Amino acid sequence: MTAPARTLTDPATFKARWVDGLVAAYSRTVRRAPDAFGVLSRAAPRDGKVAVVIGGGCGHYPAFAGVVGPGLADAAVIGDVFTSPSAEQAYRTAKAVDGGAGVLFSYGNYAGDVMHFGLAARRLAAEGIESRTVLVTDDVASGPDDRRETRRGVAGDFFVFKVLGAAAERGDDLATVAAVGEHANDMTRTFGVAFDGCTLPGQREPLFTVEPGTMELGLGIHGEPGMRTVDSVDAHELADLLVDQLLDQLPDGGDGRVAVLLNGLGSTPYEDLFVTYGRVHERLLAAGLRPHRPEVGEFVTSMDMAGLSLTLMPLDDELAELYDAPCETPGFRLGAGWSLAGDGPAPDDVPEAERRTPSVAPPLSETDPGAGGVAAAALTAALEAVTEHEDELGRLDAVAADGDHGQGIVRGMRGAVAAARTSGASGDTAADVGTALLAAGTALADAAGGASGALYGVLLTETGGQLAAHGDTAVTLAALADAVGAAQSAVTDLGGAKPGDKTMVDGLAAFTAGLRAAVERGDALAAGFTAAAADARQAAADTADLDAVVGRAARLGGERSRGSADPGATSLAYMLTAVGEVLAARAEKEA
Ligand code: ADP
Ligand code: MG
Repeated sequence: MTAPARTLTDPATFKARWVDGLVAAYSRTVRRAPDAFGVLSRAAPRDGKVAVVIGGGCGHYPAFAGVVGPGLADAAVIGDVFTSPSAEQAYRTAKAVDGGAGVLFSYGNYAGDVMHFGLAARRLAAEGIESRTVLVTDDVASGPDDRRETRRGVAGDFFVFKVLGAAAERGDDLATVAAVGEHANDMTRTFGVAFDGCTLPGQREPLFTVEPGTMELGLGIHGEPGMRTVDSVDAHELADLLVDQLLDQLPDGGDGRVAVLLNGLGSTPYEDLFVTYGRVHERLLAAGLRPHRPEVGEFVTSMDMAGLSLTLMPLDDELAELYDAPCETPGFRLGAGWSLAGDGPAPDDVPEAERRTPSVAPPLSETDPGAGGVAAAALTAALEAVTEHEDELGRLDAVAADGDHGQGIVRGMRGAVAAARTSGASGDTAADVGTALLAAGTALADAAGGASGALYGVLLTETGGQLAAHGDTAVTLAALADAVGAAQSAVTDLGGAKPGDKTMVDGLAAFTAGLRAAVERGDALAAGFTAAAADARQAAADTADLDAVVGRAARLGGERSRGSADPGATSLAYMLTAVGEVLAARAEKEA
């Protein structure tokens, strides 16, 4: 199958360009965050109002940037397609809308988002800005009812944002907005189906396909495969299937009214949605429920995926009042609360900081390939290795997750190399290597986003920080083993994965152990590194025998990934191998 007809857009500039277009079109409602990949409400910041900051990867419009404006969110942080935004961008965006009453973060429950937004919250706290987080966990297909906190967030995002946005708008304090948001999430359930896959910008092939004559039940919104493939049914039966799934799990509470969202995933005609909705409505009435201001349309999409989802939220007086409160955003308007008529500011009046594309590191093409000392040379080799294997890493990630690891790690490593080259490090002392790795880690997390961006970012910054403390001495194998050991702890603290959980930690743990063994043997740096990299390669290959326990791949029951190696462990092994070769070549030259 070939990709559907769409404009040809360079994936590297896709996000910057669509955000430019969005703020050009809706300048009366939103503006760009200064020096950040975020969109701010024209009405924000407001003194004394809790700032509601939502976000996630893009590809879900109108989530998230399209529901920013008075009455809803104050800001959205925007990641790359299907990839969580970085901590840096979340921090900058939140800071721009803080009105002194604290920041309420809300987003779907995905590991990358949890890590990056969590790091941003810690940075805000260090500056005295209080924040709370409401994770959306509405997707009944992604975890059992007794472990709802593990479920992912899908179209229910919209209900939760709408309700807590209205609570913030009416002046509730931070704790109250958080409590109201938690309540909305507790009451919200979604179930969806996919009829066909979606295609990422710049790709020729869809991320996944659905066999003709079948559909996928319990799909994700990032191309994660569904729970089950079943034969296609007509709209009537489909409505029954969705309603049955949800009625089964609908929470107690509410007064009989239920908010209903029949959400299109990107390329399902509205007429098709209405055909299905008609039967949904009938079934809800028959079950004794009263659909309250139902919505039928696209609210949380998945690029051009064909499919739909049904979301229900039983209402009580408070939820209904907040759900019905007015709002004015690019993608959704309700009531007559605001008059944001007019054209927004003239282009020349837009501050420079809201016009430029934000970045932590310069574009790689503008950096000096000889700069940055040994660390930059090693990172360059690592970048080449993952670039060579980009497609393979994407395929490994697509087996049970969202297929973006190849793209993400390459994007991150390009940022890392650029940052190392411009870090001012010039030689191979511990201070030089430390400085370069610190800059590289920050840039990697920012450029990559996602779970792996946060984790590889911490791996580099922690290793760099430890090495920098050794100052003007040469890097020894012992110092490196200690630094990598500390970095491994930082990665497990952040991500919660242990060795054996089928993640990059498996490769990292083998590498650390290999370095320690090499220190014991009295190996030279290059020889010890090379041997430890071989251990990491073996550990990565061995992950094929494991079931995923954490991360996206675990959501569908980790068995789906059995027989195929973990993408993160694999990319790590490629990179460590390449670095080993750089070190060996340098050692040979010096000998
Ligand atoms: P995302 O999961 O956000 O799409 P990527 O696809 O870039 O991120 O990376 C996936 C890889 O990240 C996994 O193969 C795994 O190695 C690693 N990973 C994900 N979650 C964790 C975690 N909690 N701890 C350690 N590694 C993780
Ligand atoms: Mg992924």
